[in-house]
Amino acid sequence: AKASGRNNFQFYTQELNGRTYDYLMVENQLRRAIERKEFQLYYQPQIELASGALVGCEALIRWMHPERGMVPPDRFIPVAEDSGLIVRIGEWALIEACRQNKAWQEQGLPAIPVAVNLSPAQFSSSITATVEIALMETGLSARHLELEVTEGVVMRDAIEVIDTLRELKRMGVRLSIDDFGTGYSSLSYLRRFPIDKLKVDRSFVDEIGADVDDEAIASAIIDLAHSLRLKVIAEGVETADQARFLLQRGCDQIQGFLVSRPLSAGAMAEFLQTWRADTGQ
Ligand code: C2E
Ligand code: CA
Ligand code: CA
Ligand code: CA
Repeated sequence: AKASGRNNFQFYTQELNGRTYDYLMVENQLRRAIERKEFQLYYQPQIELASGALVGCEALIRWMHPERGMVPPDRFIPVAEDSGLIVRIGEWALIEACRQNKAWQEQGLPAIPVAVNLSPAQFSSSITATVEIALMETGLSARHLELEVTEGVVMRDAIEVIDTLRELKRMGVRLSIDDFGTGYSSLSYLRRFPIDKLKVDRSFVDEIGADVDDEAIASAIIDLAHSLRLKVIAEGVETADQARFLLQRGCDQIQGFLVSRPLSAGAMAEFLQTWRADTGQ
């Protein structure tokens, strides 16, 4: 029993050291990546379901690691959040998305909003100044910027959060709740926050056609959004059957591999050129 106890302990410390080492390595490399500008944004189109018109795109960060190749955000965003580096990385992503969107417009491509993901750690009262600077420096108009926040951020429910969201709204920026349905269960905050759009989490969309409970949740979120006069977008739509179901339930917009994978800036420019956009919004 003693021996196995020791083995367990060794196993545990090895595991812990392994994780710590990996963590520190990623953190150090992230610091270097910021200096060497190793990040890129990809863009995923958002489509109005009923008309098929292009109504926006979401900016998704990629780390182009010199040795490891393209690192997906799930591999480094958590480390960036824990270490606080997300503030600088997020600031870069915000400015880059605004700059790119403005550049597309100046090339005569349709003007659509670009949605940028905001980590909870970025969401302090100084975010309004950061957004203001990004818009001013790039010349992008506020209505062509959308910010995606998670339920965790709005559920803090502090007076400052409400004030900050109202200030962003007053500036003309759009606000959406990401991964809706996966966070806390209280919905009362939805009334108090100046939100434009709910994003039905991919986990519910995945199960359309397979799990009636998840279908019920997706439908309920669509109805909830509409009762509150919010738009609703389903993310992670991969099949025509999922899109048909969502259309039938009155979902406004979709985003997912069915329409397009996230695209490099160059490929997104081509998409903007060929796809019919709805710029009258
Ligand atoms: P998210 O905000 O929920 O983004 C949607 C994710 O779903 C993206 O993964 C996208 O590539 C993926 N996706 C889109 N359509 C489909 C589909 O039809 N099927 C499947 N299987 N997946 C689909 P990605 O790009 O790997 O990003 C993962 C997460 O990393 C994001 O989830 C977001 O939470 C975070 N993230 C990405 N970029 C940023 C950023 O600039 N800042 C912050 N703070 N977080 C970011
Ligand atoms: Ca998102
Ligand atoms: Ca999401
Ligand atoms: Ca997600």
